[in-house]
Amino acid sequence: MSAGAPDDVNSFVREAMEILEIGPDLQDVVLNADKKLSVQLRVPMDSGEVEIFMAHRVQHNNSRGPFKGGFKYHPEASLDDVESLANLNTWKTAVMDVPFGGAKGGVMVDPAALSARELEKLTRKLVQGMKEVLGPWTDIPAPDIGTDERVMAWVFDEFSKHKGFSPAVVTGKPLHLHGSHGRDTATGRGVLYAAREFLKASLYTNVRDTSFVIQGFGKVGGWAARFLHEAGGRIIAVADSRGATYNEKGLDIPRLTGHMARGGTLTEYEGGGPILSGPNFLTLPCDVLIPAALGGVINAKMAERLQCKAIIEAANAPTTMDGDKVLRERGIPVLPDIYANGGGVVVSFFEWVQNLQNFQWDDEEVSRKLDRHMTDAYHQINMLATDHKVPLRVAAYVLAVKRVADAERHRGFD
Ligand code: NAD
Repeated sequence: MSAGAPDDVNSFVREAMEILEIGPDLQDVVLNADKKLSVQLRVPMDSGEVEIFMAHRVQHNNSRGPFKGGFKYHPEASLDDVESLANLNTWKTAVMDVPFGGAKGGVMVDPAALSARELEKLTRKLVQGMKEVLGPWTDIPAPDIGTDERVMAWVFDEFSKHKGFSPAVVTGKPLHLHGSHGRDTATGRGVLYAAREFLKASLYTNVRDTSFVIQGFGKVGGWAARFLHEAGGRIIAVADSRGATYNEKGLDIPRLTGHMARGGTLTEYEGGGPILSGPNFLTLPCDVLIPAALGGVINAKMAERLQCKAIIEAANAPTTMDGDKVLRERGIPVLPDIYANGGGVVVSFFEWVQNLQNFQWDDEEVSRKLDRHMTDAYHQINMLATDHKVPLRVAAYVLAVKRVADAERHRGFD
């Protein structure tokens, strides 16, 4: 499943614009993408054949700074999907108050079907095709679904070949190659800080007294589970694409992680019992449901069936517009994606700053600065939610849209 159509994100943006009384001229500027680029990548495969893959980059808005957003490698990374995620990134960078705009890229490919050599060639072709729109002060990619630090290292290397040494052109690089401490764990760690503030200020409880169900056990869900577990939270169920596991008393996450690292599956894990996987997994009774896998999983039908008390959106766009409407009617509070998974873009910003300074911060400094960013943003959102008597999602968009609209106005339109 991919993210919703651009209209889904824009419906939240429009709601914020109404509250902010933003006029139609500015509305058109911020609702539409600045630039869309599609490139055909002709990649010589190991077999000797040449295969063609479509790549897209959408630059949505850069009024607050260079465009910023991941490159995902996925068969369904269509232009619409990428556009919707680029749009989301404009609001994410604004709500997290990092000096970037929003972009997203995608290559329509199943990376698991390619050899390492083919993947490297594909990535180098991608940079060759897009190098004129990328750059440390223009548009800065990052890892996303189907891409990792190895792919980002190739992006850095290929771009530097054409434009000179440029570590700041891409974030999410390996630590020994101008990467940042804490980047791989950033989104999951950010989910912990977000959960802590949300539970305290909005639900009047804490992580220790809360049960969590997490869909997705990858870079985001896996780390979020580990940090929430370390903080005393009870993770009662986790799922990935192959299955799920459940333990009412709470899963031993370090043990489960070790089991997975040894090639095990969630279903085989001895410290948990079998549980329905697939969409039904989301309907497990719990305090907090954390979708951390796919977009669009909480549609109106699913929202009716959920048995959680609150939702923290660690995935991008897990809730559709219709799903959100049902959750509002049912009074289930939602900590929205543009804030809840913003830890990744905050540490990406830290990596960019370190690259520009040719300096490296230690892990502790990165975590401390991330905590401050997440905590400050939560309280700003929460205050707007109280002032305007709106859900946290609308408040987050109000904060983000105001920042982007102010930047547009102050820069002028000449
Ligand atoms: P990932 O590929 O590392 O992990 C995805 C996980 O979801 C895997 O465990 C996979 O098995 C699982 N999954 C896939 N299909 C599933 C299904 N049908 N049911 C249950 N689980 C399923 O990806 P990730 O980086 O963890 O990203 C997850 C989500 O978070 C995406 O929406 C991504 O856009 C978003 N996100 C990621 C980051 C980041 O820093 N990685 C930052 C912000 C947002």
